[in-house]
Amino acid sequence: MKFIDRIYRTTTGSRNTPEPLPSGRPPSRRPFLTLLLSAGAAVLIPLALLWGTSCSAPTEEVNVYSGRHYLSDEQLFSQFTEQTGIRVNLIKADTDQLIHRMRLEGASSPADLLITADAGRLVGAAASGLLQPIGSKLMQEVVPSAFRDPDGHWTGLTKRARVIVYHKDRVDPSELSTYEDLAGPQWQGRVLVRSSQNHYNQTLMASVIAALGPQAAEEWAHGLVTNMARSPQGNDRDQVKAMAAGAGDVAIVNTYYMGLLLHSANAEERQVAAQAGIFFPNQQGRGTHVNISGAGIAAHAPNRDHARRLIEFLLGDEAQRVLSSDNFEYPVSHRVEWPELLQSWGSFREDTLPLSRLAPWLQEAMFVFHRAGWE
Ligand code: FE
Repeated sequence: MKFIDRIYRTTTGSRNTPEPLPSGRPPSRRPFLTLLLSAGAAVLIPLALLWGTSCSAPTEEVNVYSGRHYLSDEQLFSQFTEQTGIRVNLIKADTDQLIHRMRLEGASSPADLLITADAGRLVGAAASGLLQPIGSKLMQEVVPSAFRDPDGHWTGLTKRARVIVYHKDRVDPSELSTYEDLAGPQWQGRVLVRSSQNHYNQTLMASVIAALGPQAAEEWAHGLVTNMARSPQGNDRDQVKAMAAGAGDVAIVNTYYMGLLLHSANAEERQVAAQAGIFFPNQQGRGTHVNISGAGIAAHAPNRDHARRLIEFLLGDEAQRVLSSDNFEYPVSHRVEWPELLQSWGSFREDTLPLSRLAPWLQEAMFVFHRAGWE
């Protein structure tokens, strides 16, 4: 009403006191309406154009670049859309490719959220200026400080323990103790582990360097290479399968792969898992290496509020429960109880060195692998 009133005033002088026509007859509505419509159009059309360009209506979408490839994630994204009306546009690819793409796209990148399956990549993305502070109170409340960036550029969404899996018939768990011990002569030709190109191994190596220094880490890597049952190949699941097939006796893997094998639709995979036990190394010392799968908001996110909302949704109790019960990862939120299977593996001491402190060692880890001959 006020807007119409203003047009009226501009075109007639005053709405309340229209100037009488010289003839003294009552004012005709027709010329006034014409004037009103044309003046209205003159004002409204540019305003509409302005609205369209400078203060466009919320797009109600969030663009996710994800290095995670799990069905549980997509189900959670659908649930997020149902609850908020915000559509999730998901681009899945290898994390390094996604980060490279964000670099190339620069300020015009449509990426709102980067999700990775490894802390090292988030640390690197933050260091390259690809992320911005998340600014979430919930994140600070529920995520322990070791598993988020002190500057708030990334946060863990789930935790994954990288453990020693052993063949129950050929290894007594009392023979096991630390990652370092796997380099000893008693394990010659018995250790299965994937390639040094793998992010989980790179972040594990960075944690070993942080704890022991580059020299000792290299000696460990060298010993481990000597003890390898075969040259590194396959993924974590393949190490457990090779162990069941008799290729080796111990393997370094993330625990959730054991959960996936135990709950596999494939009976052979369930049988493979049944032969393997889980051992949490370094319990008398720094604790078992725990990596995260996590997220950060892109530096140029066009929908940054939606991105933060999605992070908070994923950190919520319900989503945390889904991630740990469907994908067997540990919830990163201290508010959420572990599902039964994870509880059956037992509680353990975690390496609590903040993952952000691995930053200086991620590059060094690659040199150590190279010098030690870890393919
Ligand atoms: Fe994985």
